[in-house]
Amino acid sequence: MRSHSLRLVIWLATVALAGIVIIQILWLDKAFRFKEKQTDSSIFIALKNVAEKLLMYNDNPSTLVNPVKQVASNYYTVMINDVIDAKFLEMSLKNELEQRGLFLDFEYVIYDCSGNQLVYGNYIEAEKNAFKSKINNSTLASLPNFNHDNYYFGVFFPKRSEYLLGQLDVWIFTSVILLGIIVFFAYAVWVLLQQKRLSEVQRDFINNMTHEFKTPISTIAISCEVLLKPEIIKTPERLLNYATIIQNENNRLKKQVENVLQLATFEKKDLHLNKEAININDLIRKVIKNIDANLKNTNTQIVLHLSEKPVVVNADSMHITNLMYNLLDNAIKYSKENPMITIYTENKKNGILISVEDNGIGIPKNAQKQIFQKFYRVPKGDIYDIKGYGLGLSYVKIMIEAHKGNIRVESEEGKGSKFIVELPVS
Ligand code: ADP
Repeated sequence: MRSHSLRLVIWLATVALAGIVIIQILWLDKAFRFKEKQTDSSIFIALKNVAEKLLMYNDNPSTLVNPVKQVASNYYTVMINDVIDAKFLEMSLKNELEQRGLFLDFEYVIYDCSGNQLVYGNYIEAEKNAFKSKINNSTLASLPNFNHDNYYFGVFFPKRSEYLLGQLDVWIFTSVILLGIIVFFAYAVWVLLQQKRLSEVQRDFINNMTHEFKTPISTIAISCEVLLKPEIIKTPERLLNYATIIQNENNRLKKQVENVLQLATFEKKDLHLNKEAININDLIRKVIKNIDANLKNTNTQIVLHLSEKPVVVNADSMHITNLMYNLLDNAIKYSKENPMITIYTENKKNGILISVEDNGIGIPKNAQKQIFQKFYRVPKGDIYDIKGYGLGLSYVKIMIEAHKGNIRVESEEGKGSKFIVELPVS
């Protein structure tokens, strides 16, 4: 799938999912409010009935006008201004709530109107289909009877919100399923993007291989064409010249194929380190001497800031030499005009530090972690003007980790990069 169609599909699916989530939240909210309203009116009627029952119980013929008031979402007061028999009140409350299927914990309190004083209260726990008083039945018989005529009672429902949520079990179940779908969708997108990245890496690798191999192959083809002409026999020096070209190009190809295959299949487990004490400063000087010949006609400048004391580690000198070549090669490759490379070494407390700094094109922040992955190259659209297979730094990292060291990069786009290697001494 092409990049922009993939992006479009992901976008559309995300928008569709976001729409479903919003609808679900709206419905959940609506269902909650509906249940809340229904519960509140049932409680309201239940408490009004309790108040009327109390008056009847007291043989009080007066009628109550709006006795129930919802003071807070979970607290109601009921003005009866009459005698209150606590036992009767508790039983009536239980009955009325039970009749309406409102099995939720409640706490009732009896107030004295004159002094607005709490005179009695009890907490009633709701079980699945019944109420359980904190006071047992025998004590219930002796509950106090407040027989001044100016009492009112209040009922508090501490677990109202939990009760309401419990009533929305179907909605909560569907929300959990929706959440599962979102997690699955996010995972599917992640896999898709991984796959896309892999195919891009593969495409880049094939493009690079093709580009790298095309030149020597066409040089060989042209040389062969010349050699196949019968008159070439008459000019043995030309014959020798073309045969040498073929041989050189063939060797170059062979070396390249070997290198790529070796690096591409290189794993930590294949490593056999021949460790010995090596002076990193000497190793660096040797590497510089070898590449100096290739840099003769360029503006590349290499500055050495090597520690005055020998920087010695126990390491495999062949692999450390290779990794120094890779870091230097990258520093030169990824610098445009007048490359200036600084190599620094230092003896640290438990090991050594080597850094290779350049003033090149730099590495974008989001690519800095990925450059150590096999085949990864910083994307440059469809044009890669700098040759490479994305294998050098993965080799460097594997090697440093095999030596129990670490590597990190500090880089700013357009300004340059600094690769810092730390290796333990032992
Ligand atoms: P390559 O063969 O592509 O150079 P590497 O594994 O050595 O492979 O590097 C991976 C990628 O990291 C490179 O393609 C390049 O984009 C980036 N990179 C590595 N070194 C530097 C550097 N010194 N400056 C800028 N970019 C770098």
